[in-house]
Amino acid sequence: MIAIPRQKPVFRFAPSPNGPLHLGHALSALLNRDMADAAEGRLLLRIEDIDLTRCTPEFEAGIHVDLQWLGINWEKPARRQSEHFADYQAALKSLIDRGLAYPSFLTRSEVKARVQVSEAAGTQWPRDPDGSPLYPADDRERSHDEREAMLATGRKHAWRLDMARALETIGEPLVWSETGDGERGAMKADPAAWGDAILSRSDAPSSYHLSVVVDDALQGVTHVVRGLDLFHATAVHRVLQALLGLPVPVYHHHRLVTDADGRKLSKSAGDTGLAELRARGFSAGDIRDLVGL
Ligand code: GLU
Repeated sequence: MIAIPRQKPVFRFAPSPNGPLHLGHALSALLNRDMADAAEGRLLLRIEDIDLTRCTPEFEAGIHVDLQWLGINWEKPARRQSEHFADYQAALKSLIDRGLAYPSFLTRSEVKARVQVSEAAGTQWPRDPDGSPLYPADDRERSHDEREAMLATGRKHAWRLDMARALETIGEPLVWSETGDGERGAMKADPAAWGDAILSRSDAPSSYHLSVVVDDALQGVTHVVRGLDLFHATAVHRVLQALLGLPVPVYHHHRLVTDADGRKLSKSAGDTGLAELRARGFSAGDIRDLVGL
């Protein structure tokens, strides 16, 4: 009998270098390494640095130092998203060409003002699962000619997914397979809850949602292990995978490490930063204990 080589499972840890790594990241990275080992799989590192204003080389260098200190190894080199904007632009172009994305011109403060007016008048503005207001319909409803005229003026704009049209195009319910610490099994995605999700920003040629699905596919990722704070975002990722014809990984959303008051750790949380803990004499083994592994 001929032995057919089995494709190895592929895991990835995908931090953004916009702050120092903390205990929450340690849990995610260690879990990725442990799960990759248990599955005899590979572990990749991806630096999610599309936000060129907030990401710095110092934070990026810190990621490598912290992971090494934790005893985690990954396949070199790491993929840096800032070196692959052309890949995300190509995906965006295919959505634009099919009429599934539109340019959006309202600034964050204009949207905020709109929400305030509506809520002052007693009408609750719909919000996405992260609590951000859904983007108003204005730009989606513009005619082709009006859009072209606005683009021609060189006005700053983002690109957004026309969610209703996207779901109509896909035409079937979207699901994903979940193995994490919350609900498990076949999850029904609810992408409409996100409204017209952002695909690229006026100051960044891609969005988190777009680059994450493109990269997971290009890197052959089979298992996405990340925090439960990204559970609902998976619905947007499923829509983009369906529209772009990309494979669907298995998702494992793990519990979050919280501070003493039960709040999710933030990047600025000094007392839980890995470099800080290392300087105070904690060992890599102590970190495992602290995150409950
Ligand atoms: N870059 C994201 C973060 O640091 C994680 C993205 C993901 O794992 O899908 O929160």
